Formats: sequence, C-alpha cells, structure tokens
Amino acid sequence: MKPFSYVTATDMSSVIDVATTESKYLAGGTNLVDLMRAGIETPECLVDISRLPLAGIEDLPGGGLRIGALARNTRVAADARIGDRYPVLAQAILNGASPQLRNRATVGGNLLQRTRCGYFYDRHSACNKRDRGAGCDALDGFNRMHAILGASQSCIAVHPSDMCVALAALDAQVNIAGRDPVPLADFHRLPADTPHVETVLGPGELITSVDLPAALPGYSVYLKVRDRASYAFALVSVAVLVRMEGGQAASVRIALGGVAHKPWRAYEAERLLTGTPLDDNLIHQAAEQALADARPLQHNAFKPELARRLIYRALKGAVS
Ligand code: SF4
Repeated sequence: MKPFSYVTATDMSSVIDVATTESKYLAGGTNLVDLMRAGIETPECLVDISRLPLAGIEDLPGGGLRIGALARNTRVAADARIGDRYPVLAQAILNGASPQLRNRATVGGNLLQRTRCGYFYDRHSACNKRDRGAGCDALDGFNRMHAILGASQSCIAVHPSDMCVALAALDAQVNIAGRDPVPLADFHRLPADTPHVETVLGPGELITSVDLPAALPGYSVYLKVRDRASYAFALVSVAVLVRMEGGQAASVRIALGGVAHKPWRAYEAERLLTGTPLDDNLIHQAAEQALADARPLQHNAFKPELARRLIYRALKGAVS
C-alpha cells in the first residue's frame, strides 16, 4: 500500500481545512480500504470523518426524514420510521452485502462506493476508470455483470449499490456541505468519456446527509436477482413505489439497479402507467418501454428480459 498521512476531523471546519484534491474521506472504509490495499486508490491523506456528528436520523418538518451520512447501513435498515414509512429502503439495504459489512458501512460511503467490475480491480487489465485512456478490457471480456443502459465505449461498468436504487425511487436528495442539495437521481453520472468521474461531487466536497421526502401511502417493494442467495451484487434489481387511488395508479416510480453506471429511473415507463389501472397489458408495455434503449453485451443478453420480468413482478405485487 502506498504510504499516506492520516488526520482525524473533529468538526466540519477542520474537514474543510484539511481536505485537498489528493485526500480521501474515511468513514466505514469497507470499499476504500480494499481499493487502497490493491493500489487502485492512492490518496496522499486520509481524513477520518467518523467522529463528525453526522450519524443521526432525524424527522424533518413536513414528514420527511434526514439520514446522516455517517449513519450505519444496519441502523438505517433497523430504524422503525424507515421500516414503517420507507420499507423499500430497508429491504434494499438488507439485500446488500453481509451483516458485518452493513454494521460498518455508512450511508455516505454507500453512495460513493465504486464499481465491482473485475477489470477495474485487476491492475493488469486495461481500465479507463482506473487509468484514463488505457482502454476497457470489459468491452470484449467477460461482461456478464455489466451495463445495458447508458453505457459508453469508454466504460460499461454498473453502480453496485442496492440502497441507492431505493433512494432513487424515493426521490431522495443528497445534502453536500456548502452547496445546494442534489437529487439522488442526478448525483451519479453516466460514464460518457470520463468514467473516472462518477458523481457530481467536486474535490474535497463532503456529503452530510440524505433527505427523504414525506412518504407516500401505498405499495413499495425492492426485488433483486443475483447469482446466490446472499452477499452478491445484483444482476438486476428493481425498486417500485405505487400509490393507487380509486383503482388507478396515482403515482408510479420505478428504479433499476445492476443495469447502468447509476441507479436508473424508468421515467417513460412511469408516465405510461400513471393514471391507469395497471392492467397486465399496460404493465408489459411499461416494462418494454423501460428497456427500450437497452444494449446488451456478449455475455449479458439475458439482462433486458430479466429486468422486464422483475418490473412486471414488482408492479403485479402493487395491484394485488
Ligand atoms: Fe474499467 Fe469501466 Fe471498463 Fe470496467 S467497464 S474495465 S470499470 S472502464
């Protein structure tokens, strides 16, 4: 591991003072430390932010919730307010990683975790995300886990988080010290020709919390398909929220995971279903619409159909 300096931040102002373009924030460390051991992340300085008072979960005026960036994933999933008002979030978190990792991992770190593309972690492989301009060995390699939506010739990696898929469906906002909040759906970027730039965060910027708007009454579910029953990243996942009124869908939100460089909101499919009775035909049409732009790769031609079926299953749950 490359040598680095280490400082502990005790308050927000000390964070701003010590953060530089070559420093990284350390919270749970469940992804960053692995990346440093592998020589993929090589910060000159680690700024330990774990003692900052950002671990709370607070009610917001109007019925929302503010989840501190340092709240541990386990605590968020176990919070009674999350379970009662945002069950899709608790389900998504509990579908991710292992209990040990969830005990350690934080909400802010979950947002910033990096792709699990095997070529990214293998320093002998070409990877534009790791080394700009190096190429992408996944394009002609084993790309079963990779993106089918929004990818580019520079990078076909997917964002690995389950939690972020639920947050995208919940219309969550990311609060960042010193600037306006950013909608979760806009926080992560598509790769284009700069796959190393993964979020809208600038150098030294710090996530302080994530806001959930007041919960809408209705049905929600997180479904995930993976290669084994636990401790595996999604092949495809979906978070669905539906509010029915008088037999019609007053509100529909669909977010997909495991398909793109960011949690993927299926806005067109949502529009197609809003104001309808969510009959079988319409659900099938919406699922087709959600994957209309899918561009499967050599080893993941199964993903579009898997995603369509997952959307169908989740929406049928809402109707029934
Ligand atoms: Fe790197 Fe992205 Fe290609 Fe994976 S898909 S090797 S992360 S550039």
